[in-house]
Amino acid sequence: MKHLIMVVEDEEALALMLKYNLEKEGYDVVVQSRGNKVLADVEKNNPSVILLDWMLPEMSGVEICKLIRSKPDIKDIPVIMLTAKGEEEDKVKGLSAGADDYVTKPFSIPELMARVKAQLRHAPEPQTKKELIFEDIKMDLVEKKVFRGETYIHLGPTEFRLLKMLMENPCKVFSREFLLKNVWGSNIYVESRTVDVHIRRLRRALNEHGEDYIRTVRATGYAIDINPLAEE
Ligand code: CA
Repeated sequence: MKHLIMVVEDEEALALMLKYNLEKEGYDVVVQSRGNKVLADVEKNNPSVILLDWMLPEMSGVEICKLIRSKPDIKDIPVIMLTAKGEEEDKVKGLSAGADDYVTKPFSIPELMARVKAQLRHAPEPQTKKELIFEDIKMDLVEKKVFRGETYIHLGPTEFRLLKMLMENPCKVFSREFLLKNVWGSNIYVESRTVDVHIRRLRRALNEHGEDYIRTVRATGYAIDINPLAEE
C-alpha cells in the first residue's frame, strides 16, 4: 500500500513537477489548486502528508492549515508549507498556524523528498483492510464474502456494497441519495425507492441468522447500529 501525498499548489507547472517526482518516489499523488476545495479533498483522501502552497486562490495556505488543525479527524496529518516568501516572520506564521515543516521556493527536489520522508516516519503505514466486523457480522473484503458467526450469508453484489458502506461507518446514518450515488454510481439513474428494495433484501438475508442491526431513520436514511435509533 502506497502513501498518498496531497499537493496543494495553484502553479500548474510546479504542481505537475511535484506530482511527477513524488510518483517517481513511489507515492500516490492527488493535486488540488483551489483553496476552498482543499478541506473536502483532505477529508475524502486522508493523505499521509500535505504539501501546502502559501498563496492560493480563495484561501491562503495559512488559513487552510489552521482549518485542518481544527478538525479532529484530519488534524494529525503532517503539513509541509511551500512558499516563495523566505522571510523569517512568514516562517513563524506558517509554523504557528500548525505546519510541521516549511520549505522555501525555489527548493531542490531531493531536499523536498527528504522532508516528505521525514514526515512519513511518524505516519502509520497505510493499510488495506482485509475484513470488516460489526458484532457477529463479518465481511471478508478479499474473498468478498459475508458471515454471521460461522454462517455464510449469500448477498447479491448491490447488497454487498450497501452492507460494506454501512459497516465501514457504523452508527452513521446515510441518506438514500448518498447511497444511490456511492453504491450505484452517480451516472446511473435509479429511484431512491430502489435503495429501500435492496435494504429489504439485505435485511432478509442477514436476519435469518441473527439480530437486525440495520436501522431505518425516518425521512433520513439507513445506518447499521446495535442500538435502536430514536426516530425509527
Ligand atoms: Ca501559489
